[in-house]
Amino acid sequence: MRKTHFIFVTGGVVSSIGKGIVAASLGNLLKNRGYRVTVQKLDPYVNVDAGTMNPYQHGEVFVTDDGAETDLDLGHYERFIDESLGRDNNVTTGKVYSTVIQRERRGDYLGATVQVIPHITDQIKSMVIDVAANSEADIAIVEVGGTIGDIEGLPFIEAIRQLKNDPAVSRAIYIHVTLVPHLGAAGELKTKPTQHSVKELRSIGIQPDVIVCRSEKPITKEMTAKIALFCDVRPEAVFSCPDVPTIYEVPLCLDEQNMADYVLEQLALEKRMADLSAWRELVAKIKQPSRRVRICVVGKYIEIKDAYLSLAEALNHAGIANNVTVDIDRIDAESVGSEGTECLQGADGILVPGGFGSRGVAGKIAAINYARVNNIPFLGICYGLQWAVVEFARNVCGWQEADSTEVTPGTSCPVVAEMYEQKGISELGGTMRLGAYACRLRRNTKAFEAYGQLEISERHRHRFEFNNRYRMDLEDAGMVISGINPDRNLVEIIELRDHPWFLACQFHPEYKSRPSRPHPLFLKFIEAAASAG
Ligand code: GLN
Repeated sequence: MRKTHFIFVTGGVVSSIGKGIVAASLGNLLKNRGYRVTVQKLDPYVNVDAGTMNPYQHGEVFVTDDGAETDLDLGHYERFIDESLGRDNNVTTGKVYSTVIQRERRGDYLGATVQVIPHITDQIKSMVIDVAANSEADIAIVEVGGTIGDIEGLPFIEAIRQLKNDPAVSRAIYIHVTLVPHLGAAGELKTKPTQHSVKELRSIGIQPDVIVCRSEKPITKEMTAKIALFCDVRPEAVFSCPDVPTIYEVPLCLDEQNMADYVLEQLALEKRMADLSAWRELVAKIKQPSRRVRICVVGKYIEIKDAYLSLAEALNHAGIANNVTVDIDRIDAESVGSEGTECLQGADGILVPGGFGSRGVAGKIAAINYARVNNIPFLGICYGLQWAVVEFARNVCGWQEADSTEVTPGTSCPVVAEMYEQKGISELGGTMRLGAYACRLRRNTKAFEAYGQLEISERHRHRFEFNNRYRMDLEDAGMVISGINPDRNLVEIIELRDHPWFLACQFHPEYKSRPSRPHPLFLKFIEAAASAG
């Protein structure tokens, strides 16, 4: 049996302290040392996947090549370890229970009372081991969502506790990422919450091997010693992970403290030389002051930072490669609808991202129109493509009734309509056109110029599409169809010829952008925005 080394990552004190970035950063450092690494997220919520949660609840939904709607941490993992992950890299309580219940109905446990321990925990364990085995990883990093002490997290914590002695596990260590708060009035960092969190972890049977302290400022040697003493770890096992100007600096910050070496020693794996020069260069470029480019993102969830996470990262990656700093100006689509496009004045580029439903649509159309008429570089993504088609149909072709059936089901001019396969689907979870699909590009287009190849593959997440019935008329009016899905003849990319850079795609290019490999469409969009400014 193939044996994998495991690193289990848990969180303490509060959530949202960047546990996923710590896990991803460690993955980056280990991969850099020549180890095959995979990262998995165990999410204790009862939803089967993140697809049915809105961005207010959960930030963005990250889509994998194999069409899973997952936790946004998978995006961090992909960007930091530069590997594409799949649906099994995200396990939720909902997924575990639905599998166990199906098996129970099938009679797999015939005679037994099905219980949290061992049936639920065994299912979690097999889902963890399978991912490690299928990816042929030397090291699997497994992050448990939520915070130690959460009731719903308990079966997962119990499962990772048991895994230490599982025959499929070579060696396992536990990393606890915890908050060390800074008390303004006292001017001090406080270790007590960490002590309590570790106490809680130990009461469930897990002794952490490594503690990562998230704090505003670096923690001192004395604090390290104190945490080591109270939490029963060696001082070398306590790492400081202070706030840094860019998340891409976290691997460097941890490497300076020799975290990867310490972890490898604990796993009884050889320490190997790392070469972080390329990553270091990337971070230096991010921090180096450069010309700023203002990109207006006209969407709905502007107050939620994580709602357009991959999008923001993709814009940043493209900025780094173009030697500019991208200032993302999040603009509320509803206010553009009610107050007009004045707020878009001076924009170097306008982006309309993915979305659902009627709220904010008028503002999105107004923003698209503003970009088209004023020759401002424009990138439309998914819903952004659909409303770009409607805007063009209404204002260039003069079809006043042009609409999407998502918003106006009975429209007499459905230029965007429900896909054939979608008709009659009543369940909303996991039923969209999801994951990677092929797209064939047309020569002499902006899309072809960006990608430099004819066949591409991109990730999708939508129910509605460009209606081919109107294709010829739209082309006659000046719309360029530059990307087509070859299997189903679906329009995937549109652009405008008489415009400096106006392109919209039905897929989500942001999911595939990596810091070291910016996405071609973002690269060209930012290049156009930078040269326009
Ligand atoms: N609401 C649109 C659809 O379902 C677009 C989805 C999206 O932007 N991801 O087709």
